[in-house]
Amino acid sequence: MSDHLFYQSRQTRPFIDRAEGIYLWDVDGQRYLDGSSGAMVSNIGHSHPHVLSCMAEQMQKATFAYRLHFQSDIVERFAKRLAQKAPAGLDKVFFVSGGSEAVETAIKLARQATIARGEPDRFKIISRTPSYHGSTLGAVAVTGTPPFADPFAPMMREMPKVRAPLHYLDGLDMDDPTTGAHYVQQMEEKILAEGPESVLAVLVEPIGGASTGALVPPAGYMEGLRALCDKYGLLLIYDEVMTGGGRTGTYFAADHFGATPDMIISAKGLGGGYVPLGAVISRNDLVEDVLDHGGFLHGFTNAAMPLAAAAGMGVLDVVEDEQLCARASRIGGMVYNRLRDLQSQYPFIGDVRGKGLLLAFELMADATTKQVLPKELNAHAKLVNIAYDNGLIIYSRRTRNGAEGDHFMVCPPLISSAAQVDELMGLLEKSLAQFADLYLK
Ligand code: PLP
Repeated sequence: MSDHLFYQSRQTRPFIDRAEGIYLWDVDGQRYLDGSSGAMVSNIGHSHPHVLSCMAEQMQKATFAYRLHFQSDIVERFAKRLAQKAPAGLDKVFFVSGGSEAVETAIKLARQATIARGEPDRFKIISRTPSYHGSTLGAVAVTGTPPFADPFAPMMREMPKVRAPLHYLDGLDMDDPTTGAHYVQQMEEKILAEGPESVLAVLVEPIGGASTGALVPPAGYMEGLRALCDKYGLLLIYDEVMTGGGRTGTYFAADHFGATPDMIISAKGLGGGYVPLGAVISRNDLVEDVLDHGGFLHGFTNAAMPLAAAAGMGVLDVVEDEQLCARASRIGGMVYNRLRDLQSQYPFIGDVRGKGLLLAFELMADATTKQVLPKELNAHAKLVNIAYDNGLIIYSRRTRNGAEGDHFMVCPPLISSAAQVDELMGLLEKSLAQFADLYLK
């Protein structure tokens, strides 16, 4: 650990020197293939010349102009383009500096909108477990991973949760409409148990991120949630921090479903790792109501910086010009098939799932009985470390609140080529073989 800097633990890693495309180099010259785009951030890869030149151009003009002192043409244009990417009716954009800030923004906007509409008793936000929505206290209150929340429980009001639609673990067929209906019913039971008149919103990731390991919801589930929200007068909020920016094959994952949310939360791939950036894109009338009733009691000093907007615009240009949504589907299909091949070879690989280039696989003691590996083995950390030593970065999570076990996100940048997929899968297979040799004999 450094003398003056700290993060979550004492773990240290090599010092970064430079990064380009899908690779990073440490100061000793060791190269790493970025198989998880950092934490599913670097969707367009590192050091893209177009984004760097957009940033350089803006830096010559104005990096920061406080939003209460100046409007900014680049920020306005970026908001317009982002609204055009969102489903129809979601036209109002509030910029922030990351995912947690965006989650806080959505929560507070939803709450103020319901007060403005004369329903001040609505304050509960139902989310799911497992889920991760960020590190600030409001985001922790809706995060369905108890260890993240437990120490802070006396300091906040934890929000109600229902189980995510973990159809694979539950042995249900995701394409069977009764599966989706089953989990929607659980949500309805929760709304009724809480008292529908006290519930403000349902907050979900349309396709799961790291906490569920790229969980694709069963057929009809998202549409069922939308119908429930309409029935009980609740807002439906999609946390697209991880799924946005083209990663799942459409710019927002919302486009995969016949269910339009009332707000979308975006971050990570929005700034693509070039700047800290997040946004909430909201239904117009919610914003109008709040602004008509005393204004939005919320804001961050560094939000809506012209420099951040220039970088975000540059990232969006690249996503469009290089047709990265379509590419995420195509390259994602290749990675998915290769993961399936590995699954047939290694009995300890459980489910393989995801959409586009948001993909994950599970490690299990026994994939047929879905028995998880012992917690003490720390498989999620061990495989990541082996891969790291082999020059491959992947992202893992052991879901700590149940029997979900260890899963690994394989989410390279959307710019990856077929040859780079080969390289990634070669390194992953080598790492899996070493892991099996060392720990599964
Ligand atoms: N929401 C989701 C779905 C996330 O995956 C994350 C981060 O991993 C967040 C919110 C929080 O974002 P940030 O770390 O940028 O605050």
